[in-house]
Amino acid sequence: MKNYDHKTIKINSGFEIPKLGMGTWQIKGSECVNSVKEAIDIGYRAIDTAQVYENEEEVGQALKECSVPREEICLTSKVWRDNLSKKEVIKTTEESLKRLKTDYIDLMLIHWPNDDYDLSATMEALAELKEENKLKEFGVSNFPTSYLEKVQNKQTNFVCDQVEYHPYLDQSPVINWLTKHDKFLIAYSPLARGKVFKDEKIKKIASKHQVDCAQVVLAWLCRQDSVVAIPKSSSREHLKSNWESQNLVLDDEDVQMIDDLQSPNGRLIDPEWAPQWD
Ligand code: NAP
Repeated sequence: MKNYDHKTIKINSGFEIPKLGMGTWQIKGSECVNSVKEAIDIGYRAIDTAQVYENEEEVGQALKECSVPREEICLTSKVWRDNLSKKEVIKTTEESLKRLKTDYIDLMLIHWPNDDYDLSATMEALAELKEENKLKEFGVSNFPTSYLEKVQNKQTNFVCDQVEYHPYLDQSPVINWLTKHDKFLIAYSPLARGKVFKDEKIKKIASKHQVDCAQVVLAWLCRQDSVVAIPKSSSREHLKSNWESQNLVLDDEDVQMIDDLQSPNGRLIDPEWAPQWD
């Protein structure tokens, strides 16, 4: 039983995830071990990694060396898009468990949809791993609503969709779909990979509240009921300041100003294998 002292999302199955977590894409080696330990020391209890980030070893080492018991941490990883056959999902998840030095992953996601694989078989493998207590829950990532419909039709109980979400990208179709189905959204690249720091409107709101731009954007994301945000930072100062965004309350005018920046075309991450977005 986890005992979080900060805001979380709890879904009907009883699964609970902190509203603010730490992303680890592009942090490797000792920098990764140290920043994950710093984050946990500051108060973070949700860590996001993936098979393809090649840092599961380091995340696992940080979880072993930190002062917080494993069961207090909500650990997310992702099965890469080439590993989606039933056999490979099971095999590569076992490998992730070894690298992460843990008996279970809290949340395992399908990193990207891939039409070369039978989605039913992928979901079946994840459900089996959950049955064996190797996963607490599973979900998807980079699924637009058309794919959410497909996976929902498979009658498997996935809990979330991790997608790009920040002030420049309107994700209302995905949010509405997830909310309707008692699922949550994990916002990746929540700081638009640094773009928010140059935005005059966000700077204005930040100066009004005497905070920084990251805090404004994270407060805007986390005030949304079904949204979790996972900013990446390898700097203790940034990790701490991002954590403190939880103390910031935006007023209606601030929220409206950020809402108005939203556009369906504001996507930053759009690789060749991406699906047809909403
Ligand atoms: P992001 O979190 O939007 O931005 C990270 C950048 O912002 C880094 O350069 C970081 O630099 C800087 N930063 C963070 N806090 C700051 C602060 N308070 N002040 C100034 N600069 C700050 O981008 P992201 O890494 O793309 O996304 C976050 C996480 O989402 C990833 O790490 C990964 O876990 C996940 N993700 C998932 C997918 C997917 O396909 N599912 C795709 C992309 C990302 P410093 O390190 O110097 O602070």
